[in-house]
Amino acid sequence: MEKGTNKENTEGFTTQIIHSDRRKPIEHDSLHRPIHTSITYEYAEARDIADVFQGKASGYTYGRQVSPTTSALEDKITLMENGLSTTCFSTGMAAITAVMLSLLRQGDHFISSAYLFGNTNSFFNTLTNFGIEVSFVDATDVQQVKAAIRPNTKAVFVETIANPCTQVADLEGIGALCEQQNLLYIVDNTITSPFLFQPKTVKAGLIINSLSKCISGHGNVLGGAVTETGLYDWSSFENIYDDYKKGDVANWGMLQIKKKGLRDTGGTLSPKAAHDIGIGAETLALRQERSGSNALAVARYCNAHPRVKRVLYPGLEIHPEFARAKSLFRNSSFLLSVELEDGIDCFDFLNALKIVVITSNLGDNRTLAIPVAQTIFYEMGVARRESMGISDNMIRLSIGIEDERDLLNDIEQALTKC
Ligand SMILES: *Cc1c(COP(=O)(O)O)cnc(C)c1O
Repeated sequence: MEKGTNKENTEGFTTQIIHSDRRKPIEHDSLHRPIHTSITYEYAEARDIADVFQGKASGYTYGRQVSPTTSALEDKITLMENGLSTTCFSTGMAAITAVMLSLLRQGDHFISSAYLFGNTNSFFNTLTNFGIEVSFVDATDVQQVKAAIRPNTKAVFVETIANPCTQVADLEGIGALCEQQNLLYIVDNTITSPFLFQPKTVKAGLIINSLSKCISGHGNVLGGAVTETGLYDWSSFENIYDDYKKGDVANWGMLQIKKKGLRDTGGTLSPKAAHDIGIGAETLALRQERSGSNALAVARYCNAHPRVKRVLYPGLEIHPEFARAKSLFRNSSFLLSVELEDGIDCFDFLNALKIVVITSNLGDNRTLAIPVAQTIFYEMGVARRESMGISDNMIRLSIGIEDERDLLNDIEQALTKC
């Protein structure tokens, strides 16, 4: 048994994360894994380095592929997601890029939710230049996903709660469909985080998390992760290279992501960043409970306010996927969007805010706000924005962990002023 492990493994989310480091041997019995900055590791015996390169033994080779500090973070994310293994990357986008480039080939097709993080959408469009086809569909409806399946479809990619309009994908229905059709199901869990939702419960094969957002929470670090759940049968995935069909079939996909993705494309997470993310992750559950209840309070307040036209938040009963969100997610999430009444200038509202910060990030400990049409969705143009239901008066709010009363007061005074 590992040091300090609860034999029955009935521990809760936070207990597992904060004791994760010390359950593997650490020099001086420190409680945290130290930051190892060395990019190379010495082998006393030549045979040993050969065994590591040939995959016969595990070991550290070169800092682009692996470091002990990053491995400690990967262990924590695997625990959070109840997965099999995790590989970290320099950003969430690097994680997504590595997955798609290492697993898909020219002539393949995949299905993606149309309600997608802007840069993911942009990258998927770039893939079409390399002969990989993508269909964007309304993923709140599994029938739309089903209708898009072609003989060359390899994977389905969805987000849990979409940003900025907060659509909740039919995560369970799509999981069942992917299982039945033997498609690789990739779920980007960034907005919910593994505390609110574990995509393994809806049969995801791979899980993406941007570590830059609520998993770290402090907004001081970028990172991304891919977690293998062990549910997808890689033996039937045509794109696995013979070299990587080694050992347990459940690990084939991740081996290819590590080699063709991380090693060859080089989107490596630095050990210092891995350490900073791990510190943030210790309090993920506490922060998510607080930001979720704050967000629900803000959503209810705004929904009742005469200057607010519309509130998009899955925690409100008026949201089309309210029941789905309630049954799937442990708690309400930090993300909501509000549309102000016509005639009110959303810039005036934003400029009047004193506590809420005007900025682009989300999942921060601080509450952040951004006008959507003029910034993150500006590049898409009017027509695409209209088709996505994004008006010029829409503001995305990423609710933080401030005291609820202070947040409500700030929003109230800004709405009164504008
Ligand atoms: C931010 C974000 C990403 C990209 O993460 P980075 O770490 O910023 O590269 C991917 N997916 C979602 C849903 C995000 O919110």
